[in-house]
Amino acid sequence: MLVVMQSHATEEQVRAVCDRIDSLGMKAHPIPGSARTAIGITGNSGAVDLGFLESMPGVIECIPVTKPYKLVSRDVKAEDSIIKIPTPSGDVFVGGGHIAMVAGPCAVETEEQCFTVAQQLRSTGVRLFRGGAYKPRTSPYSFQGLGLSGLKILSHIRKQFGFGIVTEAIDNESLDLVEEYADVIQIGARNMQNFSLLKRAGRAKLPILLKRGMSATLDEFLMAAEYILSEGNYNVMLCERGVRTFSDFSRNTLDLAIVPAVKKRSHLPILVDPSHGTGKRHKVLPLSRAAVAVGADGLLVEVHHQPEKALSDGIQSILPSEFTSLMSEVQQIAAVLHRQIN
Ligand code: PEP
Ligand code: MN
Repeated sequence: MLVVMQSHATEEQVRAVCDRIDSLGMKAHPIPGSARTAIGITGNSGAVDLGFLESMPGVIECIPVTKPYKLVSRDVKAEDSIIKIPTPSGDVFVGGGHIAMVAGPCAVETEEQCFTVAQQLRSTGVRLFRGGAYKPRTSPYSFQGLGLSGLKILSHIRKQFGFGIVTEAIDNESLDLVEEYADVIQIGARNMQNFSLLKRAGRAKLPILLKRGMSATLDEFLMAAEYILSEGNYNVMLCERGVRTFSDFSRNTLDLAIVPAVKKRSHLPILVDPSHGTGKRHKVLPLSRAAVAVGADGLLVEVHHQPEKALSDGIQSILPSEFTSLMSEVQQIAAVLHRQIN
């Protein structure tokens, strides 16, 4: 159920409706839009008739939300959400015409490795630095990440270069730590349906970058985001990173068609990860161009100064110099679409 408030409804009227909803044991989510505030209701069993809310001051109407997801839906918020990521060098915006670039190695390996990559990325204009301190690996014998010491390296990078830090949390314990050190918490493909982690992310104070599960449908992807919003964190960015198909020439099949599909249904921004989406270095630039052309709100790209020595995902990592060309090409494509890279 969605309660639509009048454009001139007062804050008190919005609060009174929210209090009424909360007093019935449900949860009210006031979502301000440019024209009016809408209040999403979660936690209702479906049996309760909420039509009486229509008679409260400031309410225009109550409309049932038929889709399985509510808070992520455009029904609740017609315009694009713009996520603000505060960084030491100023705010980065994602969505609503703002394209955000995220670059860095798959994993934080050493202080020297991260500093070298960060140093070379600084001149490209990218403002968000990625690197996993906690790595969800298929094999228990593969490099699992440096954990807390990796987060400390990332915080040095943040301080030294002014980058905002994007890094993955793999469970509730690592999320507690990531929340202290990073600017954006990444939830990886393998955890897209880890519901207790999603709920914890919903209580986090940082924006969340939620990657699509490798076999997730569009509805499953949006429902995973709904878990985070339903706990009160509305700063969610989606990320398409390829799905598993019968295609045998790429690590995954980058499903760019999901970008307009998400935009039709949801106000949340969606980034694209052409690195995991293809698994091959030479495909990263062409798919980056395509992702921006199709309307992606950002790109997540793996960059390593010595990809042949990388402890994870070297085959899909590009060099910093290649990222420089990528930035300039996608900037030109973004300009044609009247969108801006920040
Ligand atoms: C990553 O970003 O390094 C990563 C592990 O990605 P995904 O969860 O998409 O596999
Ligand atoms: Mn990786």
